Amino acid sequence: MTYDNDNIFAKILRGEIPCIKVYEDEQTLAFMDIMPQAPGHTLVIPKEAALTIHDLSDDAAANLINKVKLVANAVKKGLNADGISLFQLNGKAAGQTVPHIHFHILPGSYLTAKAHASVSSDPTELERIASKIRASIELDSN
Ligand code: 5GP
Repeated sequence: MTYDNDNIFAKILRGEIPCIKVYEDEQTLAFMDIMPQAPGHTLVIPKEAALTIHDLSDDAAANLINKVKLVANAVKKGLNADGISLFQLNGKAAGQTVPHIHFHILPGSYLTAKAHASVSSDPTELERIASKIRASIELDSN
């Protein structure tokens, strides 16, 4: 499959669709999932146009996992989460619904979370949670 430049996350990266950002740099964007499976469900995406992990360059993959760690640390600290689940789906057969590679950061257990991409959350509530995550990003932690 080829990369679809009109997928939702490509539009978010171009600023054509809004998102509630928690972190951004030259290679990465992190924002709140609009249908969170638990409060604090956050997505981290590379700016490189890649459909799945199989299409991502090695450089972008290395950067992405570092930024997943950075944001996961902030979600854990900012929301006082005892545990954090990370997951990442590649291809429709794996359940991927947005064709631009992304990591999910989920406070608590993925195994007992709400159904995937099912119920939209109130943007005010998402912003309240995002502000706690933003405040906990530790840029010089590495
Ligand atoms: P996937 O199924 O591809 O692994 O996950 C896609 C995720 O993107 C889902 O958790 C879904 O709730 C989320 N999502 C879908 N559309 C949007 C959107 O327009 N904005 C945001 N912030 N998240 C979205």
